[in-house]
Amino acid sequence: MGITYLDHAATTPMRPAAVDAMLPFLSDRFANPSGSHRFARDSRRAVDEARDLVAEVLGVAPGEVVFTGCGTESDNTAVAGVAGVAVCSAAEHHAVLHPIEHRGGRVVGVDPAGHIDLARLAEVLTAERSTGPGVGVVSVMAVNNEVGTISDLVAVSRLVRELAPGALLHTDAVQAVSWLDLRAIAPLVDAMSFSAHKFGGPKGVGVLTVRDGVALAPLISGGGQERDRRSGTHNVAGIVALATALVEADQVRDAEVARLVALRDRLVDELSAALDDVVETVPRDRKVAGFAHVCLPGIESESLLYLLDEADVCASAASACASGAMEPSHVLAAMGVDRRAATGALRMTLGHTTTEADVDRAVDVVASMVVRLRRSASGAHP
Ligand code: PLP
Repeated sequence: MGITYLDHAATTPMRPAAVDAMLPFLSDRFANPSGSHRFARDSRRAVDEARDLVAEVLGVAPGEVVFTGCGTESDNTAVAGVAGVAVCSAAEHHAVLHPIEHRGGRVVGVDPAGHIDLARLAEVLTAERSTGPGVGVVSVMAVNNEVGTISDLVAVSRLVRELAPGALLHTDAVQAVSWLDLRAIAPLVDAMSFSAHKFGGPKGVGVLTVRDGVALAPLISGGGQERDRRSGTHNVAGIVALATALVEADQVRDAEVARLVALRDRLVDELSAALDDVVETVPRDRKVAGFAHVCLPGIESESLLYLLDEADVCASAASACASGAMEPSHVLAAMGVDRRAATGALRMTLGHTTTEADVDRAVDVVASMVVRLRRSASGAHP
C-alpha cells in the first residue's frame, strides 16, 4: 500500500505540467536572463511571460510582481522593508512573527477561531498614531497555515486605511492560492506573499507583490534584478514552473474546493463517529476546504504522528518540542485552546492528489491509533 499523504499545507506534490514546464530551463535553455545575447533574451522572455501569467492570476500588474527565493523571504521583505512600527496578528507564520517581534513590533491577539481581534487592532493603530514614527506596516495572513482560518481582510483593510493610512498592509497569502481567488484580495492590500511549493510548483521560489508606488527596501541587494527590489540571478526554471502551477491551480480551484470540502467533511465526520471527544478546532465555515484540524484530548500528537508514520500516513501537528517540554503551538495558544486539547492536535491537510481512498484509510488508521493510545494512557492493555 502506498503513502497516504495528508500534509499538503506543508508542501504539495508538483503538478506534472509544472515539472514539464521547468525541464527545458534546467538543460538547453539555461542562460542568465540578465545577459545581452540571444540565449539570455530567450530566458528573459520566459521570465517576462511568467510574470504576466502570475500578475493575471494574482490580480496585480506585471510590474508589481517580484520573484523571490521562497515565501519566508517574501514575508521578511514585506515586514522589514518599511520604517515605523510593525503590527501583526498573534497567529501569523513565524516568517512574519519573528521579524516583527525582532524589531519590537506589536502583536495583536486573535479570537477562538484565529481571527485577529479587530477592536484590539483599532486600539493599537490609534495608540501608535500619536507616538513617534507611527505604524509602518500591518501584516495579517489570508489563510492560517495551521488551522486554515480565513481572515476577514475586508474588515482589516478598512480599519488600517482609516486609522493608519500611511501604513503598508501586507498579507501572507502563502496558504491561500488553492482555495481563494486572489483577485478579490489584491485590491484590499499593498503587498502579498506566495510560495510555489504550496500550490504545485517547486520549492525555493516565491512571489512578493508590491503595489506600484509603494517604497519597500530590498532585503537582498546586489545586481539590481527585479528592478532593484530583489537582487540575485533569476531562478528561471522555478519561475516558469511557479507560473504554470499557479495558472493550473487557478483554473481548477472551484472544482477542487467542492471536491475537497466533501472529502474533508467526510474525514472529520467519520473520525468523530468512530471516536469520542474529537474537537474540531475551527468551525468549517471559517476555514478553507483542505484543512481538517482536530484536537484529540487524552493523547499526545507526537505519539500519534509516530504511529501514523509507521502506518504510512503523513499528517502533522503544530507542536514543537522546546527544552524537552511539549509546548502547544503559538497559534493554538493564541486562540485559547486549552493545553490538554492542544497537546493532542492533529492537522490533516488535503490537496490536488487526495483521493477518497486516502480519506478511508486515514479514518481507519487514525481512529485505531487513537483508541490504542487512549487505552494505554488509561492503563488498559493496548
Ligand atoms: N507563510 C505561511 C503561511 C506558510 O505556510 C509558509 C510555509 O510553511 C511560509 C510562510 C514559508 O514559505 P516557504 O516555505 O516558501 O519559505
